[in-house]
Amino acid sequence: GVPELPARPIAERRRSRRIQVGPVAVGGGAPVSVQSMTTTRTSDVGATLQQIAELTASGCQIVRVACPTQDDADALATIARKSQIPVIADIHFQPKYVFAAIEAGCAAVRVNPGNIKQFDDKVKEIARAAKDHDTPIRIGVNAGSLDRRLLQKYGRATPEALVESALWEASLFEEHDFLDIKISVKHNDPVVMIEAYRQLAARCDYPLHLGVTEAGPAFQGTVKSAVAFGALLSEGIGDTIRVSLSAPPVEEIKVGIQILQSLNLRERRLEIVSCPSCGRAQVDVYRLADEVTAGLEGMEVPLRVAVMGCVVNGPGEAREADLGVASGNGKGQIFVKGEVVKTVPESKIVETLIDEAMKIAEQMEKDGVAS
Ligand code: SF4
Repeated sequence: GVPELPARPIAERRRSRRIQVGPVAVGGGAPVSVQSMTTTRTSDVGATLQQIAELTASGCQIVRVACPTQDDADALATIARKSQIPVIADIHFQPKYVFAAIEAGCAAVRVNPGNIKQFDDKVKEIARAAKDHDTPIRIGVNAGSLDRRLLQKYGRATPEALVESALWEASLFEEHDFLDIKISVKHNDPVVMIEAYRQLAARCDYPLHLGVTEAGPAFQGTVKSAVAFGALLSEGIGDTIRVSLSAPPVEEIKVGIQILQSLNLRERRLEIVSCPSCGRAQVDVYRLADEVTAGLEGMEVPLRVAVMGCVVNGPGEAREADLGVASGNGKGQIFVKGEVVKTVPESKIVETLIDEAMKIAEQMEKDGVAS
């Protein structure tokens, strides 16, 4: 077939420093990576590694684990060694766990030096240990845990307050010549969050980790994250993303990947082009689209499948796709690469589409289309 032009990127990326989270480059033009966080007790090594394996299988590239107790800190070395993807230890307050995480071989540590400043020389020691081990640090400013001084100054967690906090935290490391940093400034309100990242992006060249914090249950959190990340990524801002949902972490990865694919920041894989259905529909479009989606889940090749309810836009869209069906009169016309290859009764549409998709995928894999 005719080779397709590379997809047009949504925007030129902001120039940021590059850090290395294990084998995953973040910033400096590296592809935007997708990350999540485990929900297991980190001290339960088996359960945590199991969840990391599921996340890895779903496309997660970096995983964060919480480290609130000594038992969790003790588990880090095994988890970091056995995980297939880089592990970031998430630490609040206790410097000793930061050292433990660095020693354990974690690919990065999330810690806010402002929280541990009261412990005299600890920031300096952390900077030195992190530098010795090439361990980058994420400074994660969060509206919910904003410094009291800044809350008093600004009255609430405004974009300016979040940015001032982030740059102050970064300066605590800069004092010790430590610049191996990425930053997040999360807020649950996408409008505040977008503005905070815009201001931060203009005022530093650190790579940025995007997140809408406490975004909510799956539906609301998906929409909030998609809107916020879409706005920022379309301005070239953002180097790694974490969708926060009150839902299993694998769902966060699915949403994150879909956001990047929608913006052409990642190659599109399976894409179902299905119509919303209307008074003209001659088949049950919802059921058809759901069944085709389920049947083709995990498809590793970029395949566009059109599922259309009638003959108005049906044949046009079906022809534009790699594969498609245009329905009418209880039958489905099956298109492959723009040609009608067969007409089947409605009851056979799903299995025929899946069959044809498998054939095309096999061919694409042979031709080396899959990456
Ligand atoms: Fe309606 Fe047909 Fe368009 Fe589907 S393809 S929305 S059924 S007109």
